[in-house]
Amino acid sequence: MNAQVKQVSPEGEKRYDVVVVGGGAAGLSGALTLGRARRSVLVVDAGEPRNAPAEHVHTYLTREGTPPAELLEIGRAEVASYGGEFVAGEAVKAERLPDGEFRIGLADGTAVTARRLLVTTGLVDELPPVPGVRERWGREVLHCPYCHGWEVRDQAVGILATGPLAVHQALMWRQWTSKVTLFQHTAPDFEDEDYERLAARGVELVLGEVAGLEVEDDRLQGVRLAGGRLVPCRAVVVSARLTARSGLLDGLGLEAVEQEMLGHVVGTHIPADATGATSVPGVWAAGNVTELNAQVVAAAAGGVRAGAAINADLTAEETRSALAERRGLFSGGLESEVGERVLGDRRHGL
Ligand SMILES: Cc1cc2nc3c(=O)[nH]c(=O)nc-3n(C[C@H](O)[C@H](O)[C@H](O)COP(=O)(O)OP(=O)(O)OC[C@H]3O[C@@H](n4cnc5c(N)ncnc54)[C@H](O)[C@@H]3O)c2cc1C
Repeated sequence: MNAQVKQVSPEGEKRYDVVVVGGGAAGLSGALTLGRARRSVLVVDAGEPRNAPAEHVHTYLTREGTPPAELLEIGRAEVASYGGEFVAGEAVKAERLPDGEFRIGLADGTAVTARRLLVTTGLVDELPPVPGVRERWGREVLHCPYCHGWEVRDQAVGILATGPLAVHQALMWRQWTSKVTLFQHTAPDFEDEDYERLAARGVELVLGEVAGLEVEDDRLQGVRLAGGRLVPCRAVVVSARLTARSGLLDGLGLEAVEQEMLGHVVGTHIPADATGATSVPGVWAAGNVTELNAQVVAAAAGGVRAGAAINADLTAEETRSALAERRGLFSGGLESEVGERVLGDRRHGL
């Protein structure tokens, strides 16, 4: 259990050392680190992790193939075992209080206060508006070969192009299967050399717009072209725009900025340093909200780093105030003998 006693703010709101907004891999890892550092911590979670549509989590050492919900359940139990608390719900507002702490307002009208804020709200995958894409997302509509490539190895995979990065995707997925078809769909013409590279790797190119995905008996059959032809596919790869879930931070003056990949904008993220510290003192970010391409294990690692940095920051603050108090004892006119006795008692925990 935490040594740090949870307090109540003057408004009667519960006060924690740290409130973590978002209970995915990043948030839970941050909370675990802080709980084990004997900090009082609350995790506010809306319960919609990004990989929820997927059946299994892959490339997570020692937990390979675990269902996403099961992984988080294990994580929550671990956090709770060190005194971490949970609220199921959405945090809708974060504001700085006059004393420098934070008030986090929840959708149900309640609020909590915290000395530090860790934001691990993840991102939203904005999918291309093609019929069938949203319905099959995370099952047969995929984005990441490291998450899903093995499961569709050697099978027919279609790449639905909506921008220039589709060439990069096609060449990547070629590592998992030789049956890759690139549907040019709404993407502008590629560079001449791109067509040559695709041909060299045996990627088939299909021109013209895609009308939608064909599904039968709850299984993807293929890609239906606007002209009517059906191209059989076991899976379709899309390029989603990755938008940081950062609305909560507007009230703190922290805005998401564009993120580029290979010279193209792929979404937005909250800028943070290697420890997750943002430009707003007291606010940290970890996981997909700041690192768009972080897989589960990387998001978890980001949470651990941020948790440790927050604990270090709180420790520094506590040392500063202890020092100020110590100096106050001497400058406040106490006889040095009395001051020494008080400090001696403190050293012995009295
Ligand atoms: C279909 C799919 C399959 C994937 N498969 C894999 C895989 O096999 N292996 C792998 O390593 N990675 C995989 N990923 C990537 C994986 O989803 C991310 O790496 C991971 O979810 C990032 O963790 P996170 O904690 O940053 O965010 P998330 O897991 O998205 O968690 C964020 C949490 O914050 C909550 N939240 C958001 N806003 C608020 C708010 N205002 N108030 C309260 N709570 C809030 C959300 O509801 C959510 O529970 C996959 C992604 C997708 C889309």
